[in-house]
Amino acid sequence: MTVLPAPRGVLRWLTLLLVSMLLMVSGACAARAPAPLHDLPEAVSVTTAGPSNSLIHATRTSAGVILVDLGWWGAEEPLEEELARLGVGLDDVTDVLLTHAHRDHIRAWPLVSHAVFHMARAEVDHFHGVAEPEAVVPRVADRLLPPERPAPGEVEVQAFSGDTMLVFGADTVRTFLVPGHTAGSAAYLMGEVLFVGDAVAHTLTGGPQPALALYSDDAALARESLHTLRARLRNLGLEPAWICTAHARCEEGGDAFWDRVLAFY
Ligand SMILES: [Zn+2]
Repeated sequence: MTVLPAPRGVLRWLTLLLVSMLLMVSGACAARAPAPLHDLPEAVSVTTAGPSNSLIHATRTSAGVILVDLGWWGAEEPLEEELARLGVGLDDVTDVLLTHAHRDHIRAWPLVSHAVFHMARAEVDHFHGVAEPEAVVPRVADRLLPPERPAPGEVEVQAFSGDTMLVFGADTVRTFLVPGHTAGSAAYLMGEVLFVGDAVAHTLTGGPQPALALYSDDAALARESLHTLRARLRNLGLEPAWICTAHARCEEGGDAFWDRVLAFY
């Protein structure tokens, strides 16, 4: 018996359906905008991909506009609209900070391919599609329907290999390595807000917790990374007022948050 390959259009919809359903089951379907991220005229946030709420956060600095992550399907139009609320356009975006390179966080890269893309060194091959994730869901989805990714050299990448500080004019962003969800997952502290990407998941029933195994290369390492992140922040005398996931869920920082998340450790 000959098994005919499914038409590409069918695969596309099956892939989107599979990933969307799993994201909804994981509790990533929050429908509210994260309050601490709306700080006009200096910052706006965009949620993309319907119920998956893949976040793009835009901040104006003295040296240009920075984006944290690049959303998923449907990102293009709302990104331009929200940038217009800041009084800027795509050309004003100078830098992109990627928490990681799963498909639901990189969609809008062709719109800002002129920018500098910052990410952890261990995430670069994944970003370019040279290496595939080990986690089940993103690996299967990428094999069924590879997302559009920049080839090596197609965009400027500046990678960091440890916790460091990025300077944008008069503004600074601290970076923290939090491997586990992906090999090069990173968190960014901008002002009072810590963007943790998918290093923290947010379930409907359990609230914030370490990255979920189904989507993560190494869930045990992800838990360990959050444990040490708490210690690293403390050592620097930093206590973020807000901690936001890449699916637009924000929690107030402080001991109550960390105690809850690290209870899974
Ligand atoms: Zn992810």
